[in-house]
Amino acid sequence: MIRAPRILPTDPAILLMEDGPTTIQPQHSHHPGLYDDPGAITQGTSQIEAIDLNVPPSGPGCVDCEATNKWWFHLRRCAKCGHIGCCDSSPSQHASKHVMSTGHPVVRSFEPGEDWFFDYRTEETFLGPPLQPPLHHPDLAVLLAS
Ligand SMILES: [Zn+2]
Ligand SMILES: [Zn+2]
Repeated sequence: MIRAPRILPTDPAILLMEDGPTTIQPQHSHHPGLYDDPGAITQGTSQIEAIDLNVPPSGPGCVDCEATNKWWFHLRRCAKCGHIGCCDSSPSQHASKHVMSTGHPVVRSFEPGEDWFFDYRTEETFLGPPLQPPLHHPDLAVLLAS
């Protein structure tokens, strides 16, 4: 269970959400993972605004853990600014802390084989548009084998 963080009330995209999660119509119920439908983009405006397709990830690991020599479990990528942070199963939970400190509400998994997005406002998991590569951190097993 992930607690929804308090989001800065100054972001107009977030103010839209004050009406509640019903303002977002999940598209994957009838149209899984496809954003080629212009109607889907219009309807999902709030989530789209939380995603920047031009920003690459900040690096291969949690930037905050690397700065303090900590370890992490799984990685999440901020869909807005590319910040790589560790998941809520990690000791420091930097991805959630990033969301709370910046108001960037959408993260994408940075794990190999995972392609889901997560909206902290609605606690909704969804499939989003392709971000700048790389889409996941280097696979450690592959690195060690090479
Ligand atoms: Zn971390
Ligand atoms: Zn961010």
